[in-house]
Amino acid sequence: MLCALAFFLLWTAAAGGAEPISVVTTSTDLKALVEAVGGERIRVESLAAPLQDPHAVEVKPGQLAKLKAAALLVTIGLDHEPWLSPALRTVGDSRFARESPHYLDTSKEIQLLQTETPRLRADKGAHVHGFGNTHYWLDPENGRPMTAAILQALIRLAPADRLYFEANRKRFLDQLDGRLKGWLQTMAPHKGTRVVTVHETWPYFAQRFGLVIVAVVEPNPGVPPSLSYLSSLIQKMRDSRIKLLIADPYSNVSVTNQVATQSGATAVTLIPSVGGDGAAADYLSLFDSNVKRLSQAAMAAR
Ligand SMILES: [Zn+2]
Repeated sequence: MLCALAFFLLWTAAAGGAEPISVVTTSTDLKALVEAVGGERIRVESLAAPLQDPHAVEVKPGQLAKLKAAALLVTIGLDHEPWLSPALRTVGDSRFARESPHYLDTSKEIQLLQTETPRLRADKGAHVHGFGNTHYWLDPENGRPMTAAILQALIRLAPADRLYFEANRKRFLDQLDGRLKGWLQTMAPHKGTRVVTVHETWPYFAQRFGLVIVAVVEPNPGVPPSLSYLSSLIQKMRDSRIKLLIADPYSNVSVTNQVATQSGATAVTLIPSVGGDGAAADYLSLFDSNVKRLSQAAMAAR
């Protein structure tokens, strides 16, 4: 009886005919997570495209109009989106003030990495990651607190759909748990592999899967490296026989190629965001894609 009642509630919530909640996210990863929880009850649009540098996005007029009409804005937070404040000023809607039920910053419950790294603050130049590393969605375990925050935000806006949202999130987490086992298995032979990354996109991914990031090509995130830094990095990579260089789709290709060629490392481009390649269509397949890319490159570089 209880089961039938729960089913009826879920069914009426999903098919109640109410207008879907309009959500805008800053990234395609957040969009995918909102879709996983919100299902048919939401309609969501990402401001950044998947292959774009997430710290440097130009918000188009059509997107500003969508933002104006949105019931919820979901962000990575900290100084990840330095381009968002100007866009919000243009929209000029007090609903998107911090602490408003229409504004969600998913970084709140995340155990951030690199919070102690001394950096200039973002307002002193082009730096980002001034409050800790912001690429936290790339640890699949962080899909848990992120969807918890999304669930609460959606329930606040549509309390009648609580059971539907909760069931969606549970299904998502069950799938996440199952897939994570497979990813850990595939990555197990590469545990302890020392790598260099171009931008500091991958510390959360590296921590989860046991890679050791020994240096970065871009020591100040968002700022191109100096020539003297590059030549000493290349020397260090040769001396310590670093075999893998991890780049992003928006990395400077000539710098990446130069470091790879001169150090003897194999460059591999990982996909930082959902939609960045055809196979990475949702949050879980983003990890399928990256685990595959990385394990193949590590195998080839041995
Ligand atoms: Zn970054």
